[in-house]
Amino acid sequence: MKKRTDPRNRPSYLRWCYECNVPLLRKKCDLCGGKGVAVAISSPGDARPALEEDRLLVVRTISEEYGPQIKRAIKGKTIILNKAPGIDRTDEVIIDGIKIGVLEFDIFEKEFRFIPSIEGCAAFERFTKRKIMVKGGLKGHLKGKYLSYDDIIIPKGQVFEAGDYSILLFPDGNIGKGILKDGFQHSEKAVKILDMTKEDVCFSKITNPIEKIIKANRGHLNIIEKEASDFIKETIDASGKPVTVAFSGGKDSLVILELVKGVTNESETIFIDTGLEFPETVAYVSMMQKKAKKKIRCVRSTKDLLTEAEVFGPPAKDYRWCCKTHKLAPVAEYIGLNYPDGCITFEGKRRYESFSRALSRRVDNNPFVPGQTSAYPILEWRSLEVWLFIFSKGLRYNSLYDKGFERIGCWMCPAGLDSEFEKAKELHPEKHRKFYKFLLGWADSRDLGKKYVRLGFWRWKSYPKKMLEIAREKEINLVPHVKGSKYSVSSVSGIVPCHDKKFSIEAVLNGIKDFERLGNVLNVLGSVSYSKDMGALRFKSSGCDVSVFASGHIVVKSDSKADAKKALIETVRTIIRFETCNVCGICVRKCERKAISVVDDKIHIDGSCIHCGKCNGSCQTYVYSDKVVDMSRVEKV
Ligand code: SF4
Ligand code: SF4
Repeated sequence: MKKRTDPRNRPSYLRWCYECNVPLLRKKCDLCGGKGVAVAISSPGDARPALEEDRLLVVRTISEEYGPQIKRAIKGKTIILNKAPGIDRTDEVIIDGIKIGVLEFDIFEKEFRFIPSIEGCAAFERFTKRKIMVKGGLKGHLKGKYLSYDDIIIPKGQVFEAGDYSILLFPDGNIGKGILKDGFQHSEKAVKILDMTKEDVCFSKITNPIEKIIKANRGHLNIIEKEASDFIKETIDASGKPVTVAFSGGKDSLVILELVKGVTNESETIFIDTGLEFPETVAYVSMMQKKAKKKIRCVRSTKDLLTEAEVFGPPAKDYRWCCKTHKLAPVAEYIGLNYPDGCITFEGKRRYESFSRALSRRVDNNPFVPGQTSAYPILEWRSLEVWLFIFSKGLRYNSLYDKGFERIGCWMCPAGLDSEFEKAKELHPEKHRKFYKFLLGWADSRDLGKKYVRLGFWRWKSYPKKMLEIAREKEINLVPHVKGSKYSVSSVSGIVPCHDKKFSIEAVLNGIKDFERLGNVLNVLGSVSYSKDMGALRFKSSGCDVSVFASGHIVVKSDSKADAKKALIETVRTIIRFETCNVCGICVRKCERKAISVVDDKIHIDGSCIHCGKCNGSCQTYVYSDKVVDMSRVEKV
């Protein structure tokens, strides 16, 4: 069997035919027969064409910075975007096969800015007055060095600020990219030279509309369409089950709908309306329903996000209880009722989309919907292939793509970007206002503050490194202080949206009073890693990964539902044991390892603990923990 590798670990290229000025999906250009040249792009390399609003955004941000002449150079050109690492939306911008820079969303200012690459600086230099002249007399290797204010001439009328990236023009004609430093007007270190080039980089005179790009890639598009159609046919024949298509209203499932339509008329298309869809998506699906010969079945979630969020808190990238309540539950119910003997469902999942999808199999049994087999015909397709297929077939796609969305999901999806959340605010202010009000209230009741919400920290339970740096720099408290004294627990279980385990249960235990202490005492269940900064602790217990957060949120991941449930119940009961401990000392005597002692009138577990959990059984507060907290919502999972 072919080994599956994560596309993020492979070097990524976009091929370009400079003769015809078109991106290529394979080495050969179908227009001129020539070979494409590799343009290195960030992994996983899921480049896509910029659609309406993104196109305007790129042109606006560049021309605001470098003047309107730039519009002339890129008129009639297809702009390619490619996701790059960053705090929020960050896209490499490629025009005429030149990676001219990066478009990034600033979560502080809530606006986009363009940062040129050295190739971009060289290409813009002839169009713009916004550049800094470097005086002569500098010697040696200059990249990485600083220019003093006396070394540079800022043209009249040009105003620069600290933090601005600038084009540097050297007396020998070399071009540089620099960044202006704080207090540059009086500094020996006014501009740092980030990069330099001798190359003459020019925009092409040849236009490249989408129709031309399709022609240049016709052969490859035919090959991948045939391969995906053959796969669909073979999968249907092998399965013998009724055929369904999962239609989300997004571009990938649109391709699947078209491909399956070409193979069979005997399929049912199912759209799960989570109740959190963008109105544009609902309108689009309704338009597709009218257009399609066969009905698109809409299955709607009956859950209300804000009611559920009062119990569970806001969903987060690593705490997506909403996927289960609003999506998985209605799918499972619909399939169970209508396909009692199972079905094969074709879905638009693609390997290049996300880390969690990178290692997927092409055909898989859905462990949460008995009898449902999921199959992914375009698993290996890249975004550019998807878009060229859609344009070549003249398919109508969701209007949200033209409004600047790169992926279509629920309007407030925590897995989305802050830039998309801002866009959702612009499109649907009332929806945004209600949810934002909830976020502010939730954060306030936990002493998390407005900045915590404004900068989007609510999207995580475990924060990425860059967000932790921002929190430190801006002095944002990340550790919630939960008020109230009564214990209560609620939970949701289902598919885990990550790559390591199959099953997760998300729960919230309200009423925890001494979170810091749990970092020590939960060692009775497994070796605990505790982060005070993040208000989070983790341990492994009976093969399950357990995370507990200061907010009271608990996430258990496991390969088995039964194990996950057992680990959650044990975790909750152990927390209650130590929260309600009356220091009776029974467990001190019970532990054969002598790992338990009383320190400052509290139970302390030391390093000799082997996490056997036997002391739990000797403790009355553990045994009677179900009298303190109603476990019925956990038992039902
Ligand atoms: S047996 Fe339970 S109540 Fe008694 S000291 Fe140990 S943890 Fe506390
Ligand atoms: S009985 Fe002792 S060794 Fe076992 S979990 Fe409790 S403290 Fe640790």
